Amino acid sequence: MDKFGVLKKHFGYDSFRSGQEELIDSILSGRDTVGVMPTGAGKSVCFQVPALLLPGVTVVVSPLISLMKDQVSALLQNSIPAAYINSAMSANEQTFTLREALRGKYKIIYVAPERLVSHSFLEMCSMLSVSLVCVDEAHCVSQWGQDFRPSYLAVRDFIATFEARPVVCAFTATATERVRRDMVKLLGLKKPFVSVLGFDRPNLYFEVAKPLNKFTALKRYLELFSGKSGIIYCATRKKTDELYAVLSSEGYSVTEYHAGLDKDIRRRNQELFINDKKEIVIATNAFGMGIDKSNVSFVIHYNMPGDVESYYQEAGRAGRDGSEAFCILLYSGEDIAIQRYFIDHTQENEELSELDALNLRRTKLKKLGAMIEYCENARCLRHYILSYFGESSPERCENCSYCTGELSGKDVTVTAQKVLSCVFRVREKEPAFVISRLMKGERDEYIVSVGYDRLSTFGLLEDMPMKSIEDFIVYLLSADCLFEDEKGALHLTERAHAVLFRSMRLRQKSPREKRKSAEKNAGFDGALYRKLHKLRRTLAAKQSIPPFTVFTDATLRRIAQNRPRTHEEFAAVPGVSAEKERKYAEAFLKLINEHSEHIEKSKRK
Ligand code: ADP
Repeated sequence: MDKFGVLKKHFGYDSFRSGQEELIDSILSGRDTVGVMPTGAGKSVCFQVPALLLPGVTVVVSPLISLMKDQVSALLQNSIPAAYINSAMSANEQTFTLREALRGKYKIIYVAPERLVSHSFLEMCSMLSVSLVCVDEAHCVSQWGQDFRPSYLAVRDFIATFEARPVVCAFTATATERVRRDMVKLLGLKKPFVSVLGFDRPNLYFEVAKPLNKFTALKRYLELFSGKSGIIYCATRKKTDELYAVLSSEGYSVTEYHAGLDKDIRRRNQELFINDKKEIVIATNAFGMGIDKSNVSFVIHYNMPGDVESYYQEAGRAGRDGSEAFCILLYSGEDIAIQRYFIDHTQENEELSELDALNLRRTKLKKLGAMIEYCENARCLRHYILSYFGESSPERCENCSYCTGELSGKDVTVTAQKVLSCVFRVREKEPAFVISRLMKGERDEYIVSVGYDRLSTFGLLEDMPMKSIEDFIVYLLSADCLFEDEKGALHLTERAHAVLFRSMRLRQKSPREKRKSAEKNAGFDGALYRKLHKLRRTLAAKQSIPPFTVFTDATLRRIAQNRPRTHEEFAAVPGVSAEKERKYAEAFLKLINEHSEHIEKSKRK
């Protein structure tokens, strides 16, 4: 099997994303390789495909235990034999895994860097045929990176222990020139092929807002993203606790994470979020590194971070599966004071000389200045970020709050309530043209004959031009508040009920955004999507694995769009590997068939 075969069979994809193929080719050719790619670009495939094609075992050095567990469980889902070894396991479990490894059970073994100095692990490696060593989050080896981990310095010696030196590849999402040089030197890479992928994440929408009241604004966004998974970052533990207390008391599906919480609670909360048991996590920047959750739809910064690097990394945890996602920063002058305080009061590394410490402080202030500029200056946000990372890009991206106007759009809740209650009053029996005349207050023969001119909703929109009323009804249809039956009568949807009775607010997007979502939703069946979501959750819970390792949101969306009816059609959906087809096709096809029958039936009625 070649790399394309492996990609299709084990990952369910027909083609490589940009940058993946050359990294894979380089590794397969036996050359050390460095991949610098933004979060979500699809780094894992770059070393997992070679791992399956090379004869021996691949050892992946990864900094976080939680990440390992998820990655291995995702690999097992695609029938890739993998395991991990870390200090969270008992001695017995470790011995068992080592023994299985020696019996050739695994193609990929994840280890924490601390393991690389463990005698038993080194002994095992000397008996294994290791073809590839992959260093994930490789910037951790550099003091100039954000997450320096001294244990990464052991990688170089580890590689030197092999009689036949394996190929070494290193990946990171954050690398300035300096960090990149450190990576090559400190990991002992030999004339590596280095590929730096563009930092742009086109599926992310960026917005900076300066609300008078951040909390009210936050709630508005949460309404907008209701039902979706997201992260709210705060600058301090105190703020995190506060927001958590208020939002959970108001019934939001939230959990929290910061370094002040007990270790077990932290781990539990993190799992609640990863496993979709809680929709939202409120956290400090302690949360995130190694969070490999692909269906995060929004990241809201309740406070401004201290530099653009951190902001982009944290915001970049949204939309990893390539789906549209939102990165919102709520900014106020107070945020600057908080960050200044941090710079003035953090204890610097004691090993730094006075001069180095002074320089570091200066650098931090400079970086803070750039972050403030991002928030304060009116210009395309994406262009600003990419320029900051030294990448050229168009002056306008058309996908940030500067280019498109506010994400939140115009609040049209009251007008919507008027129209929807009118539909309700006529018992969902009338088509759009009757509703619009009724709202306008036209006493034509039909309206008078059935007594609609006596309804409380008669003439409620008399000040609005007829054409605008008609357009607004079309908008309500597209916004999933109304639907037409086969005779053309308008009916209320679940969403309409929420607007009418559960104080949900509606915001009409700009025509450009509307067009975009209409194009995207062509052929998309929202009700089916929700059912697929539920099924995914049930299947994941049965196996105690995170839902997105069953299928990502992007794959579910494609299923809802394609509505496969046969095993072949199901297997053809991007993201459906051979193993997942075998495991899940039955359940999903059954659900799709039932759903289609249900629709057919209600059409006939
Ligand atoms: P990261 O670079 O952040 O480690 P991942 O390896 O987790 O990113 O990949 C992000 C998402 O992209 C995953 O859902 C993965 O399945 C998907 N992906 C990776 N390669 C491809 C591809 N060639 N085609 C489509 N989706 C892909």
